[in-house]
Amino acid sequence: MSRRRALGQHFLRDPAIARAVVDLVAPTAADLAVEIGPGEGALTGELARRAGRVLALEVDAGLVERLRPRFPAVEVRLADARTWDYRALAAPPGGRVLVVGNLPYSVGKPILAAVLAAHGAVAEAALMLQREVAERVAAPPGSRVYGSLSVLAQLHWDVRVALRVPPGAFRPPPRVDSAVLHLRALPAPRVAVADERRFERVVRAAFAQRRKTLANALAAGLGLPQEAARATLAAAGVDPGRRAETLTILEFAGVAQRLS
Ligand code: SAM
Repeated sequence: MSRRRALGQHFLRDPAIARAVVDLVAPTAADLAVEIGPGEGALTGELARRAGRVLALEVDAGLVERLRPRFPAVEVRLADARTWDYRALAAPPGGRVLVVGNLPYSVGKPILAAVLAAHGAVAEAALMLQREVAERVAAPPGSRVYGSLSVLAQLHWDVRVALRVPPGAFRPPPRVDSAVLHLRALPAPRVAVADERRFERVVRAAFAQRRKTLANALAAGLGLPQEAARATLAAAGVDPGRRAETLTILEFAGVAQRLS
């Protein structure tokens, strides 16, 4: 029982929700669909019916053995979805790479991070997550839950919370609400960023102390003298007294640029 909990095994028991999740990415016979955590196959059948090729990544060997005979056309791999290299996936001719999954909540964030990093390879994703995490990823500037996860995800992806799913849709029911994120990779970053690692450092430092002013948060997080942080912000046209949660992605890019 505790192993099942550790693996986040809450199986979807509503076929209408499974269809609605797959509908978000609308697989066709030309597409490769990668399913994360197929479990007992609630989404797998729907994907197999619609996508040209399905690759399913499951970490539980017992479930892998049960899935293989049920879905002979699906390539079921015993694999850890946190460390799978989604960036190496190649789209079939004329098709797309899609990622779909009802993610294990215990490791939802590292799996999400690995998928987000593959914006050059993955065209679209539909991922069920803990609702609070999904809302943070999709949050706009000014929102209470807007943070580094929102900025870093939205640099390369169009993100929206597409469905909200109650605990009763799963067996056993989780203790938290769930939501499905629909992610679409942008053809180019939302704003031009010369050095993405520097951009990420700035964003993380700004939100690490979100109650502080930007000048204080950046000085502390980046090890800068207060005056240098204030001058950089002023040069980027950003009031040093603002809080990180009010900055747009464009403004973060401007600040990072001037820190070079
Ligand atoms: N897709 C199924 C459904 O909707 O009913 C199962 C979803 S269940 C929330 C999460 C699934 O992910 C489980 O089958 C679990 O064994 C699997 N899992 C947990 N950690 C994993 C990991 N690191 N890599 C791949 N699969 C994992």
